[in-house]
Amino acid sequence: VIDISNLKKSYFLGDMEVPILHGIDLCIKKGEFVAIMGPSGSGKSTLMNMIGCLDRPTGGKVLLMGKDTNCISDNELAELRGFEIGFVFQNFNLIPRLSAYENVMLPTYSNSKKGVDTAQRGRDLLKLVGLDDRMGHKPTELSGGQRQRVAIARSLVNDPSLILADEPTGNLDSKTGEEVMEIFSDLHKKGRTIVMITHDPEMAQYVDRVVYIKDGYIENN
Ligand code: ATP
Ligand code: MG
Repeated sequence: VIDISNLKKSYFLGDMEVPILHGIDLCIKKGEFVAIMGPSGSGKSTLMNMIGCLDRPTGGKVLLMGKDTNCISDNELAELRGFEIGFVFQNFNLIPRLSAYENVMLPTYSNSKKGVDTAQRGRDLLKLVGLDDRMGHKPTELSGGQRQRVAIARSLVNDPSLILADEPTGNLDSKTGEEVMEIFSDLHKKGRTIVMITHDPEMAQYVDRVVYIKDGYIENN
């Protein structure tokens, strides 16, 4: 589902070009659970942002579900992001004044698949992540692990086939981190493709493959 070739990304600080990714080749198959590991600053989040089309590459190609993300229209891109990809961020990115349930429902307000009972789906997802008794709680009334579980439920509400998670367990204690990994593991067993950035070597036991990135290059390919 993901086919990246010679992907390059630079950031520009004034006139100065700072190259971050130097030509990444990476193929991820449907249903694979892949971890991306590497030192801080090596370009993992940058790569993830390119895969999720949150930012545009400086060079190279990203094919998502067979579509060249450089060539598709803004509408198609919005649809791809809205329906096919679920995002989980390290800092949860929840809206403070909304309840857990409202946060989960957020992606359905702008994009919603026709004929799906999203209200029921939102409740089912919160149940799936073990928060059926916390639906009305605001993020500040939840623990870190519970917040991350809300974020995972939110990433699933439009039933994406691909889940991109940037250090989903980075802010969690190891026991809560394991619980979150169990949720990802179940999703993987149900056929979802998952790409997860992590610093934690322990997490490697859950995944099919680990990709190491260092200084903007993939080390094992
Ligand atoms: P970490 O493990 O700490 O999250 P990372 O591997 O995810 O690190 P990136 O966030 O991809 O690293 O950043 C790679 C490099 O790109 C860093 O040196 C960072 O300073 C730089 N960088 C990231 N985002 C921007 C930006 N928007 N503008 C300029 N430079 C950036
Ligand atoms: Mg990062």
